[in-house]
Amino acid sequence: MQDQCGRTISYLRISVTDRCNYRCRYCMPAEGVEKHAHSEVCSFEELRNMAAAAVRCGVKKIRVTGGEPLVRRGIVDFCRLLKRIDGVEELCLTTNGSLLPELAAPLKAAGVDRLNISLDTLRPERFAEITRCGTLDEALRGIETAEAAGFEQLKLNCVLLGGVNEDEIVDFVALTREKPWQVRFIERMPMGVCTTYGAYLPARTVPERCPALEPIGSEGVASLYRLPEGKGTVGLITPMSHEFCGECSRIRITADGRLKPCLHSDAELPLRGLSGTALEDAIRRGILEKPAQHHLCAEGVTETHRAMNEIGG
Ligand code: SF4
Ligand code: SF4
Repeated sequence: MQDQCGRTISYLRISVTDRCNYRCRYCMPAEGVEKHAHSEVCSFEELRNMAAAAVRCGVKKIRVTGGEPLVRRGIVDFCRLLKRIDGVEELCLTTNGSLLPELAAPLKAAGVDRLNISLDTLRPERFAEITRCGTLDEALRGIETAEAAGFEQLKLNCVLLGGVNEDEIVDFVALTREKPWQVRFIERMPMGVCTTYGAYLPARTVPERCPALEPIGSEGVASLYRLPEGKGTVGLITPMSHEFCGECSRIRITADGRLKPCLHSDAELPLRGLSGTALEDAIRRGILEKPAQHHLCAEGVTETHRAMNEIGG
């Protein structure tokens, strides 16, 4: 269905947990964040019913996010349930990759079509420094296993952190010479308590540092580039420097069962306890009330009280 701005809403992101096995410095403090009590977190059956209602409202693509979605027990069966919803054309999942060595093949078998894997550095010491408790080795093994399980055209998400990983832009771009991956550079957004880690770096820095990159169009919210003869592509995601709200097609459901029509707005609609047409009506209302745009550039801060680990980006 369309919102009040005429945008067709067809993409749902579902956060299944606010928990994560990493503590990335730009996402959460060392001690972690206050977690939702188990009773506050929706069961997979509740989340599946909310997703099915969203599909009846026009959603065709679903992405499972977290926190880290793979730390929640039963995630593979949940993905299978989502894929069986009549009308779901594409099921995707975003992960830090650490649990893919065990879960990539089962996720593929459950019907997950695509994976996005977060990778902010290619240097082992820096990986440990950024994530506080992860190893580059496990992330790379996750990527390898995902490929072996049949996930094609993997997307690797790299958050641009000025003064932290900007000296690796060229190395990340070079990966696309031989690998059929899409390396996506994402501008860091001012969300949560840790936004002072690394400086904001506009995504245009990437083609400035790699002048061989040629623009080849766009895909969703990403502007795409390619190296001459490159097997993969480079995507720039620019929520800050070039907001893409005008083409936004997404809504979100949080692990505690609230519909968030916009990532950066505090507006939320409780879905828990609703069923049938009441559930659908609530989702339709949320879509109609979706804000036209964010005000990050003007105000410099997000309006949502939630941190990124609760919404899944
Ligand atoms: S950025 Fe992702 S991997 Fe890192 S702590 Fe946050 S949710 Fe976990
Ligand atoms: S800020 Fe809101 S409207 Fe803009 S792209 Fe993000 S979710 Fe869509």
